[in-house]
Amino acid sequence: MGCDIYPDAEDCATDHWCRATGARREPNKQWRADCPVPGCGAARALEFDVPGNSVRWKSFCGDHDKEAVRPHLAKLLGSCMPGGKARREPVMPAELEALALSGLPPLALKTQMLILAGLTTTEALDRLGVDRTTRYRVRDQLSRFADKAAGR
Ligand SMILES: [Zn+2]
Ligand SMILES: [Zn+2]
Repeated sequence: MGCDIYPDAEDCATDHWCRATGARREPNKQWRADCPVPGCGAARALEFDVPGNSVRWKSFCGDHDKEAVRPHLAKLLGSCMPGGKARREPVMPAELEALALSGLPPLALKTQMLILAGLTTTEALDRLGVDRTTRYRVRDQLSRFADKAAGR
């Protein structure tokens, strides 16, 4: 699958990926770029190629595994990042309605909004800068909300 501009992933890799990461194509037809984590830049640590019609990538950086690299690469690539968007279905009006009427306290409400936006609960709590004790309470409120939403 290509991106918004190119139907072919190979064109996206050749143009967008190379421009975003400064990659060069090597004789084996794979591209290599320096590690995209700011301040790292380990030489040739990012590898990508296009088997079939989607871009596949790996990190060979000694300090940053794939999970560590992913958010930085996503920032560089925007909608060209494989699986970067569409991590979940679009939000349903009924979900928003249930949330608005849930009576959740403001912090739990914000957390649930981020979850609807596609974050995991832990990511949402991190983004909101919620401390450990408060997390416990928020998770509890959210699980009661989930029970109610499921009609229990
Ligand atoms: Zn692209
Ligand atoms: Zn690195």
